[in-house]
Parts: sequence; C-alpha cells; structure tokens
Amino acid sequence: MSDREAVKVIVRCRPLSDKEIRDGRQPVVLVEAGQVSIRSATEGAKSFTFDQAFGAESRQEDVYDAAAAPLVEAMLEGFNSTVFAYGQTGCGKTHTMEGREQPAEERGIIPRAFDHIFREIEKGAGGRQFLVRVSHLEIYNEEVRDLLSRDAKSRVELRESPGQGVHVRGLKEFVVKSAAEMAAVLEVGKKNRTVGATLMNQDSSRSHSIFTIVVETGSKEGDPAAAAAGSDGTTSSSSSTPKARGIRVGKLNLVDLAGSERQAKTGATGARLKEATKINLSLSALGNVIGALTDDTAGHVPYRDSKLTRLLQDSLGGNSKTVMIANVGPADYNFDETLSTLRYASRAKFI
Ligand code: ADP
Ligand code: MG
Repeated sequence: MSDREAVKVIVRCRPLSDKEIRDGRQPVVLVEAGQVSIRSATEGAKSFTFDQAFGAESRQEDVYDAAAAPLVEAMLEGFNSTVFAYGQTGCGKTHTMEGREQPAEERGIIPRAFDHIFREIEKGAGGRQFLVRVSHLEIYNEEVRDLLSRDAKSRVELRESPGQGVHVRGLKEFVVKSAAEMAAVLEVGKKNRTVGATLMNQDSSRSHSIFTIVVETGSKEGDPAAAAAGSDGTTSSSSSTPKARGIRVGKLNLVDLAGSERQAKTGATGARLKEATKINLSLSALGNVIGALTDDTAGHVPYRDSKLTRLLQDSLGGNSKTVMIANVGPADYNFDETLSTLRYASRAKFI
C-alpha cells in the first residue's frame, strides 16, 4: 500500500443552520461527486477535488462507512489508524465524530466505531481472544492532559524510549469489555475536558481531543491479556505490523481537532494570542506531515514539529491509514474560513 492510498481526505459540508436561514444567509458551497466548489461575487468560483465529499444531505452512516469502517477493520487486523476532524468551530467536527445519541441515525463516528468493534469481536470470538484498552487525552497549548485522570488539571509528558517509541508517561488506560463500557469512559473524558477547561478559564474548542482504542488479538492459546500485563498502564508505541506468536496489536485514534479559525483577526492578545499561535502551529504541522506522506517526492516527514504529530507518529505513515475529514459550513459569511479549510485539505493531498 503506498502512502497516497493510505491517506484519505474527505470534505463534509453541513447544512445551513436555522439561524443562518433566519438571517437570510446564502449557501455558497456546492458539493458534487468528490468535487467541492465555493463562489463569491468578488472572487468567482474555486473548485477542489477530494477522495470523497459529502454535502448537506449526507447521513452519519455514509460518513462512517467511508471514513471509519475500513480503519476499524484494519485495527482488528493489527494496523494503526487515525481519523481527524478538522475545521472552523461550528462547522461540524463534533457532530461528525460524536453526533447525537438520539435518534440513533444521528450517532457519529465514535459511538459507531464502538459498536462495530464489539460486533466484530463477537463474530470472531470462536477462534480468537481480544483485549480492548482505551485512553483519552487532550493537547492544549502544546501541553498534554490525561482526560481520564481524577485530577482535571493533570498534565502528562511525552517521552521517547527505544523500547516504547514516543509515548505518554503515566497515561491512564482502561480495559473495556463492551461498547457501553467504552461509551462510559468517553463520557468521563468529555466531562473532565469541560471541567478542566472551566477551572482554567479555557475554551475546549481550543484543544485537540484524542480518544485512542487499542485492540490486542491472540489465538485462544496465546493470551493477549498476558502480553499486555507488562505495559504498566502506559501506552506503548506498538508496531503497526502483526506480531509474532499470533498476537496482533492495532490502534485507532479518533481526533477532534481544535477549531481552525484564525484568531489573529479577532485582535487576540496575551494568553489568547499565544494559544492561537500554538493551534496554528500544530494544525500546520499536521498538514505538513500528511502532505509529506502523500507526496512521493518528499523525503522527510516532519513529525517532531508538534506534540500532536509526535504523539501520533506511529499511527501516521508506515502501514497506517489516515483519514482527514475537513468540515465546512455552506454560508456566504464564512467564505474566507471555508476557502482556507478547503485549501488546507487539498494541500494535505493533492489529487
Ligand atoms: P464543531 O465541533 O466543529 O465546533 P459542531 O459539531 O458542534 O461543530 O456543530 C455545530 C452545530 O451544527 C451543532 O449544533 C451541530 O449539531 C450542527 N451540525 C453540524 N454538522 C451537521 C450536519 N452535518 N447536519 C446537521 N447538523 C449539523
Ligand atoms: Mg466541537
């Protein structure tokens, strides 16, 4: 598999909101068969081509099938993958990743992945054993926080060692035995994210949230629990190639990125400006890494330029699969931000 095929860039345009309709906003984004175009009176129309594009009518199920289902299957075979939701605040990142619990059609990628994983595990239960672990962290201002720690302000450090590669020291991981248990862990993480942000007078749309699922699979004789026992609750950078003795380790990272809107134009100063600079830095580092992976002529992949790309290094490139979902809004007043998101997404993978 070449890295070009291993990276998929998808654009999703949400519908006009009720407020936008009331305010008489006009839709300026057109989605057609992998093509997205945006027009304005002054700049005319600009078109971009992506692996896939979803318009206002798109269903959560279709986005899941295109973006996440193949990655869940790859994880169960022992490969690492990452799904990113990118875009300006209010354009549908969280809707795409989490969605709403009710009605069931509105559930997003994360809860659908939970169900999918345990459905597959039940199907395969005859021949294989599975151990599923989850962790949840956020990166705010280039600092990593464990969202499953009791201490809402808990900072953890990225470490690098020959044995474990890049990992988060002391990050809490929980073994889960059902989709419901997984969902309960996610709820704890989300709650801690909000509580932590409030305590520190921060806005959670300014942080990257990473929910990570690790599945170890072994034949009935090889016990994956025994293989995991040495991991002392830290995440190891498991190799994405299938392991010897029938034990395979696969990982899936589900990432709701910080809002990509440019803060500078709102006249941010002090802490807010510093925060904005760090977000821009990490989003552009991510774009550069994905761009380097899809460009056969680029030799060096600049993983080290941000915490986000360092942390996800073992799940970007190599045998891993990466999906970037760029979320945009359809309305005229978002023209500049939407164009900037489309440019970012098309730079990540020039088609
Ligand atoms: P973000 O996480 O990027 O800030 P949200 O996911 O919170 O944005 O979306 C903002 C609002 O738009 C929410 O009320 C959400 O329910 C709604 N929304 C987003 N995408 C869609 C969609 N594809 N269909 C219907 N409503 C959507
Ligand atoms: Mg959000």
